[in-house]
Amino acid sequence: MLADLRRESAAGAEGFYNYDVWENERVLEGSATVALTMAEQLGDRIRCSSPVGAIRISPHRCEVMLTTGEVLTAANVVCAVPAGPLRDISISGISDTKLASLHRQKSALAAKFVAVYDHSFWEGAGLNGVAYMEHNILGGVWAQSAGIMSGLVPPQRMGTYLATPRHHLGQALIDEVVDAFGDAAATPAKTYTRSWGTAPWTQGYVTAWRPGDARQERAAVLRVRVRPVAVRPHGRRRAHWPRRRPRNPHLPLTARRRRPHAPRQEPP
Ligand SMILES: Cc1cc2nc3c(=O)[nH]c(=O)nc-3n(C[C@H](O)[C@H](O)[C@H](O)COP(=O)(O)OP(=O)(O)OC[C@H]3O[C@@H](n4cnc5c(N)ncnc54)[C@H](O)[C@@H]3O)c2cc1C
Repeated sequence: MLADLRRESAAGAEGFYNYDVWENERVLEGSATVALTMAEQLGDRIRCSSPVGAIRISPHRCEVMLTTGEVLTAANVVCAVPAGPLRDISISGISDTKLASLHRQKSALAAKFVAVYDHSFWEGAGLNGVAYMEHNILGGVWAQSAGIMSGLVPPQRMGTYLATPRHHLGQALIDEVVDAFGDAAATPAKTYTRSWGTAPWTQGYVTAWRPGDARQERAAVLRVRVRPVAVRPHGRRRAHWPRRRPRNPHLPLTARRRRPHAPRQEPP
């Protein structure tokens, strides 16, 4: 909910996921063109086919180890690797809090299906090409562009998707589109499927958190921010929590009564 509100406030949208605001700009040649154009300008500063296996962070020198064994050094490291593959990289030199935060991020496993038709047959029937599906392998489909219909298999249906034999899969997905749009959908010129959830360098679709994980994230941030307020810098300021009562020297050590401690609880 908060993420949605933040998104709406940043984009100035009027209403939930207003397509006029969110879907009004597209890269004509396909979004991969953005990365390719940037790559042209960066030239040989980009190393392709060089998987990173380990990262060591230190204040003076960071090391990035490729799976080939080659070591690159740098003053700083920026990780732009998706949450799943990033977990496969051994990272040292950063706080446990940061690593725990990384491990709370989950990739939403998904697969994509694309059917190419010679024209946008759905428009002839007065339809916009969007369908949401509750009991299928596909979670839904949408019109990607002229004659092209795309669909996504959501995380909770990936099991069925992966269990379907490859040679049945394309037809099974087309059948689902036919159920929604009729026989005009039965004969695409071409179909494509791609299991992003199992692709090793992606391992998913977008980053997601399981219920409760985002709250732990917030609690971790609060712990980090609040603690320094309560410490006593150079012994001058009192901590806000009550001090332990001094031990009564007249009481034998074994007879001291302790208040039972409530077990330390993780934040919900
Ligand atoms: C099917 C699908 C549909 C999507 N639809 C939309 C959409 O409609 N709108 C939208 O905004 N977003 C969409 N997304 C999400 C969008 O594609 C991603 O959010 C975006 O590509 C993330 O960009 P990125 O640069 O962070 O990561 P990526 O584009 O995933 O790039 C990460 C790079 O890191 C590399 N890498 C991984 N592991 C290593 C390693 N160990 N060493 C070195 N390199 C490594 C990978 O090879 C890859 O090149 C979609 C994603 C999928 C899969």
